[in-house]
Amino acid sequence: MAVLDQLTSQEAIDLENKYGAHNYHPLPVVLSRGEGVYVWDVEGKKYYDFLSAYSAVNQGHCHPKIVAAMTKQAQTLSLTSRAFYNDMLGQYEKYASETFNFDKLLPMNTGAEAVETALKICRKWAYEVKGIDENEAEIVVCENNFHGRTTTIISFSNDPVARKNFGPYTNGFIKIEYNNLEALEQTLKNNPNVAGFLVEPIQGEAGVYVPTEGYLSKAKAICEAHNVLFIADEVQTGIARTGKMLAVDHENVKPDILILGKALSGGAYPVSAVLADDSIMNVIQPGNHGSTFGGNPIAAAVAIAALEVVKNEDLANNAQVLGELFRSELSKFIETSSIVNSVRGKGLLNAILINDDEDSDTAWNICLKLRDNGLLAKPTHGNIIRFAPPLVMTKEQLLDCVSIITKTLKEFEV
Ligand SMILES: *Cc1c(COP(=O)(O)O)cnc(C)c1O
Repeated sequence: MAVLDQLTSQEAIDLENKYGAHNYHPLPVVLSRGEGVYVWDVEGKKYYDFLSAYSAVNQGHCHPKIVAAMTKQAQTLSLTSRAFYNDMLGQYEKYASETFNFDKLLPMNTGAEAVETALKICRKWAYEVKGIDENEAEIVVCENNFHGRTTTIISFSNDPVARKNFGPYTNGFIKIEYNNLEALEQTLKNNPNVAGFLVEPIQGEAGVYVPTEGYLSKAKAICEAHNVLFIADEVQTGIARTGKMLAVDHENVKPDILILGKALSGGAYPVSAVLADDSIMNVIQPGNHGSTFGGNPIAAAVAIAALEVVKNEDLANNAQVLGELFRSELSKFIETSSIVNSVRGKGLLNAILINDDEDSDTAWNICLKLRDNGLLAKPTHGNIIRFAPPLVMTKEQLLDCVSIITKTLKEFEV
């Protein structure tokens, strides 16, 4: 077998099992091509992608404008490191800062790196601006959070699978219940050393848990009252996914620190960023932080193109309209269903709750059946199935998907 032979699905799966670390449990389907809302497996079967690489591919697979920007830049200049200036980074920083209404951007590559960056900025701000004693700063986080996989980030996770045997853990975090303003208020009142509140506007990995309306704006107000930075992790919810450019836009909240990743590149390239105004971002000085690939010319070109696509194709509005349609169609089905308890979400970030235990394999089996019927989705937390298609979907395609989903679910009715 040559290195780049065309493989069968089973051969590809066997290779990953033998030569790859077993840090994922993928649905058994082997993809080799994508275009818009569709992906194809190595045998040529076509599927609707209802995961979009965890909302990285909001702009659809292989969007021609993003591919063109990436190809052109790859043939021109790919990497200089930040030891030198390049002619793309500043243009991207300006474009993204203006798009999201911040003074400055700090470029990184992955979501977890951007979260780490935000935590570092917040701590430095705590000591140099807020005046907290050195090494005493605390950052408040929420139960059932997902912010990535680094040692510090898993230190404040409460998922035992993500945490166990990765200690010792990083100190300086206080965990409170999500969607609980009273808990936030009390915690900030009782802890003068709190510097920041890190929160997902919708908890994606936890199962698309949408907080009560008003939670974000009130949480922001509580933070302001205590001189605590409101840090929004919009890695999954950002870039039009929930029906607005940012999920915090639904409540007209401007975070003190904004974290982006995933769809910032349309899934073409690892691009993440932290945005903040000068009063916060200026705590970062040469040597404090960096990344060899962060802000490279390909990333800059790709991110500009990816954001332009979101604006030009009005993907936020499409997500808003199709999201309403999706939930209303699914709700109609649920009225007559015993296998699904509920549907929830915002824009095109949605989930259904399967009527079975968290440790049952019903949701997994439904996803296998969805795959057989031409639609790819994955369970999160056992009995929840997340539905997050690319935002370039049409109404006809969405209704086609609804019929695949309801037809599949009917096969599981008892
Ligand atoms: C995916 C995700 C991350 C981590 O991003 P990576 O690119 O996988 O490191 C962080 N926060 C949220 C909310 C995410 O969904």
